[in-house]
Amino acid sequence: MKITGVKAYPLVQPLGEMSFAFSQSWVSARQTTIVVISTDEGIDGVGEAFGPARPIAAAVESCCAPVILGQDPFSSSAIWDNIYRPMRHNSQKGILIETMSAVDIALWDIKGKATGLPVYKLLGGAYRDKAHAYATGLYRPKVENAKEALVEEAVGYKREGFPAVKYKIGTVSPEEDLDILKAIRQAIGDDVKLMVDANCAYDATEAIRLAKQMEQYDVYWFEEPVPPEDIEGSIEVKNSTSIRIAGGECEATRYGFRELISRRAVDILQPDVCICGGFTEMQKIVAMASTWNMQCIPHVWGTNVAIAAALHCYAAIPDIPGKINPPEPFFEYDRSPNPLREGATHEKFAVVDGYIDIPRKPGLGVTANMDFLKAKTF
Ligand code: MG
Repeated sequence: MKITGVKAYPLVQPLGEMSFAFSQSWVSARQTTIVVISTDEGIDGVGEAFGPARPIAAAVESCCAPVILGQDPFSSSAIWDNIYRPMRHNSQKGILIETMSAVDIALWDIKGKATGLPVYKLLGGAYRDKAHAYATGLYRPKVENAKEALVEEAVGYKREGFPAVKYKIGTVSPEEDLDILKAIRQAIGDDVKLMVDANCAYDATEAIRLAKQMEQYDVYWFEEPVPPEDIEGSIEVKNSTSIRIAGGECEATRYGFRELISRRAVDILQPDVCICGGFTEMQKIVAMASTWNMQCIPHVWGTNVAIAAALHCYAAIPDIPGKINPPEPFFEYDRSPNPLREGATHEKFAVVDGYIDIPRKPGLGVTANMDFLKAKTF
C-alpha cells in the first residue's frame, strides 16, 4: 500500500457569547486541524492535531507531505523518525510534533482499516471496553454571577451521571477559587470526585499554600499547578500535599516525558495523543510510565477524532500498578463549548451512566464529515 495524498483542514469556530476563560486566556474561538491521508488502495485515514490550525496545516504540507508521499502506511515508526530527525533543530515539541501527531493518528487509522482491526487491538489490546468519563468544564464563564453558574454547571454534570468533574482554577484569586470550590463540593456532595486544573497559574509557594487549603474539599488531583518548565516547582508541590499532582499535556515525545517521569515530577501523567506525537509516541510514553510505576490518564481537548484516538489509547493503557481490583482510570471528556467537536465526524459519542464505549470498528472507528470539514476550513 502506498500513500497518495495528504490534506490538512484547519478548522475554526468563533464562540461569541459562549466564550470562556482558563487561567492563561479567554477562548473566543475553537481551532483544530484534521488531517486526511489517502492511499492507492482507496483507504483513507483521519487524524487530528491540537494547536493553532493554520501553522499546523502549513507544517503538514511543507514538513510532512514530502516525506510520506509514496510510503507504506504500515511503516509508521520509520515515517515518524524520518519526519522528526531532519526537523530536530526546529521543533522538539509544539507545532511540528502536534502536526506529526495528526499524521501518525491517520496512519494508524489506515492500518486498522486495512487489517479490519480497531486501533486498540493494534496497540496490544484492551484492558477495558468502556471509559469512565469525567467532565472537563467549569471554566470561567462570561456571566454576571460566575459562582452561581459554575455550581449549576457542576450539578448538571452530576445529574448527567458523570462520576467526576474538573474545575478550572487560577482565573481569579486563590481566595475566590477556594470559595467557589467549597460551593461546588457542597452542591455535588461527597460521592462525585472533584479535580482542579490551574493550567500553570502559580509558583510553587502559592500552589503549596493553595493545595493545603484544598485538601479539606477532597480534591482528587491538582493539575498543572506550575508551568511545565518548572520541574523543581512541580516536585516541591507534589512532595508537600496529599493531593495527587497531574501534568504533561504540554509535553511531547518520549524525550520530553523522560524528564517528568524519571524525576517523578507528577503523580499522574497526562500525555495527549494529538500533542505528544500520536500513537507511535504514546506507546513509548506509556511504556516508560509503567516502568516508573506512574499512572497515565490521557489529556483530551479536541473533536470526536481526537476523542476516538484517545479512547483507543485509554483502552490499551495498563493499570499502573496492576492488581485484581484496580481503580477504574478516568477518561477526560471535554464539555466546554466546541461546535467543531460533534460536527467533525458522522459518529457521536454518548455518555451512559458515566461511561463511553470504546469504538470497536476498524481503525479509529469514526469517519470524518467531509462537508463539515470543508465548511469550517479557514
Ligand atoms: Mg489541563
